[in-house]
Amino acid sequence: MGFKSDIEIAQEAAPKDIREIAAKLGLNEENLDLYGKYKAKVDINLLQEKSDKRAKLILTTAINPTPAGEGKTTTTIGAADALSRLGKNVLVALREPSLGPVFGVKGGAAGGGYAQVVPMEDINLHFTGDFHAIGAANNLLAAMLDNHVFQGNNLDIDVRRVVWRRAVDMNDRQLRNIVNGLGGKAQGMPREDGFDITVASEIMAIFCLSSDIINLKNRCAKIIVAYNRKGEPVTAGDLNAQGAMAALLKDALKPNLVQTLEGNPAFIHGGPFANIAHGCNSVLATKFAMKYADYVVTEAGFGADLGAEKFINIKCRMTDIKPDAVIIVATVKALKYNGGVAKTDLQEENLVALEKGLPNLLKHVENITQVFKLPAVVAINRFPTDTEAELKLVEDRCRELGVNVALSEVWGKGGAGGEALAKELIRLTQTESDMEFAYDEEDSIKDKIRKVAQKIYGADDVSFTGKAEKEIANFEKLGFGKMPICMAKTQYSLTDDQTILGRPKGFTITVRDLTVSAGAGFIVVLTGDVMKMPGLPKVPSAEKIDVDENGVISGLF
Ligand code: ADP
Ligand code: MG
Repeated sequence: MGFKSDIEIAQEAAPKDIREIAAKLGLNEENLDLYGKYKAKVDINLLQEKSDKRAKLILTTAINPTPAGEGKTTTTIGAADALSRLGKNVLVALREPSLGPVFGVKGGAAGGGYAQVVPMEDINLHFTGDFHAIGAANNLLAAMLDNHVFQGNNLDIDVRRVVWRRAVDMNDRQLRNIVNGLGGKAQGMPREDGFDITVASEIMAIFCLSSDIINLKNRCAKIIVAYNRKGEPVTAGDLNAQGAMAALLKDALKPNLVQTLEGNPAFIHGGPFANIAHGCNSVLATKFAMKYADYVVTEAGFGADLGAEKFINIKCRMTDIKPDAVIIVATVKALKYNGGVAKTDLQEENLVALEKGLPNLLKHVENITQVFKLPAVVAINRFPTDTEAELKLVEDRCRELGVNVALSEVWGKGGAGGEALAKELIRLTQTESDMEFAYDEEDSIKDKIRKVAQKIYGADDVSFTGKAEKEIANFEKLGFGKMPICMAKTQYSLTDDQTILGRPKGFTITVRDLTVSAGAGFIVVLTGDVMKMPGLPKVPSAEKIDVDENGVISGLF
C-alpha cells in the first residue's frame, strides 16, 4: 500500500545521543550506565531524594483486541510526543517486549509508524538483557531447589508438590510440561516439571513491583517453591536463594532510558504479560518518570478488563500512585471484529458490524469511569483502511453518549497527529481523580474474584472447580487471603472463552486453578484454558526476520 514498515521508519531516524535525552531530564552522565550510544540505565538511588512534585499520570488501555494489537503502545508514545509539542515536560513508561510475541504472532512492542521508541531492533531483541537476568534468577532458584532435594532434602520437600517452574523468554510449547532428572542416581531426582515464559514468572512480577533492591530481595525470600511432606510451604528464603537472586537482578533493576522518534525520553522496563500476569512496566520506572516529568504516559497490556484492571487493583494498591486520566484505544477494525467480522475481512467497510461491536467499547468506558471512577477519553487510532463513514460513526456514537473522544493519527503523523488527544488529556488531568478499587483487600478470595468478574467482565457468576476450591481453602488457611488477585484470562473476550466477542451477558467465569505468588504479593487466578507458556503459530514471524552482512536487521514489526 506504499506505507513504510515500522522497522524502515525506525532505521531512517537519526536518534540523539542518549546523554542529550537524559540532560533534558536534568540527569548527567554520572547518573547513567551507558549501554552504547542510545540506551542507558538510570541510577535508582536518585529516587531517594525528596521532591514534592506529583506528575500527572496517564494510563493507556484499550477495548478487547484483535490478535495484531490495537495500537496502545503506538498511542502511548504518540500522546507523549503530542504533549511535548504542546510544551509539556513528558516521559513515556512502557514494558520491555518479550521474545515470545516478537517471534510469534503479535510482533514487537516499540510502537508503530511515526510513533515509536528507538532503537527498535535492540528494544525488541533482548535490549539490555533484563529478561535474561530475570530468567537466570528464576532458574537459579529452580536449580537450588532440585539440588537441595538431591543433597539429602533436609527441608523434607515433597517432590510431588514442587510448584516452582523453570522459565525462558520464548514461546516454546515443547517445554510446557516435561520430566527431568532422568538418567539414574547421580543425575538428580526424576520429577514432572515445566517451563513458563519469563514474562509470566513470579520473578518478573516481583521485579516490576519492587521499590528497591532490598525490597526485591525480601520479596524473593517469600516465594513459595514447594510444600514439605507435612503440607507446609517451603520458600526461597528456606533455600537461602534470595541473596544470589537479587545479585543477578541488581543491574536489571535500573530502568532503561531510550527515546521516541521525536526525541522525547522514554523508560522501557520490565514486561509482564497482561493475560497471564499483571501487565505493566516496573514501579521503579513509573516512579522515576513521575519524578522527572510533569506528564507521564504509561500502558497496561491488552484490554481494560486485563491490564488496566490489574494496574489499578494491584500496582496502584501496592504503590501510592493513581492515574489522573485514562486513554481507551479503540480501532475500527477491533470494533468490527467484536461485531462478528472474520479476521480476514476487517479491511472492508462494514458499518453494521461496527455498530454491533460498539458495546464492547462502551463496557470498557463504563469500567474506567464508573467502576474505577477515573476520567477517560476514547482515542480512535486511525488505520489507513478506515473509511470516513466508519470513523464518523464511532465519533458520533461516543459524543451522543457523552463519552470524551479524540481521533488519533499518531501512527501516520507522529506527535502532530495526537494534538487533539493531548489537549483532551491536559483538560482531563486538571482536577485530581478519585480512584476506587474494584474490590477490597479484606474481601474473601472468592468475593474478590466475583467482584472483578461481575463488575469488570459483566459476568453473572463465577464457578470454581474442585481443585480451585481446595487451593482457596489452603491459601486462606496459610494467611494469604488478604492479597489482591491477579486474574489470568483470555484477552480476546470479556468472558473466559476467546470466541465470545462484543459485550456478552449471562455468562459464568470458571476458575480452574489458583496459585499464590507470595513474593509478588498476589494470588493468581487461572480461568478458561489460558496458559503460562504459549506456543508458536504455524508460520511464526521468526521466519521473516533476518540480518544482513552489515548487521542490519529486517522483518521486525
Ligand atoms: P498494542 O500496544 O495495543 O498491542 P501496538 O501499538 O504495538 O499495539 O501496535 C500493534 C501493531 O499495529 C504495530 O505493528 C503497529 O505498527 C500497528 N499499528 C498501530 N496503529 C496503527 C495504525 N493507526 N495504522 C496502521 N498500523 C498501526
Ligand atoms: Mg503494547
